Amino acid sequence: MAEPQVDLKKNNQVSVVRYDPSKGYPSGEDLYYECPLCHYWLISKPRDYSEAECECGHLSIDIDWGRFSVKDHKLEPALLRLSPSKS
Ligand SMILES: [Zn+2]
Repeated sequence: MAEPQVDLKKNNQVSVVRYDPSKGYPSGEDLYYECPLCHYWLISKPRDYSEAECECGHLSIDIDWGRFSVKDHKLEPALLRLSPSKS
């Protein structure tokens, strides 16, 4: 799991997106949530369950329902928009 994360963080430019967690969690192909605890970048639109949870389990996504879960709402994740950086 560590290797793709490293590539992800190395190969993309990141901008932080402002959102209001009380109104729901945006999702999109280029949107990721950064776990405030383990700093895993969780894709907001996972293709399967192997990528639907961060390493510590604080963030998880129910693929069938498209439901985003945060264990402790005092620790909301940052929303990141990724764009591939030209090398
Ligand atoms: Zn985590």
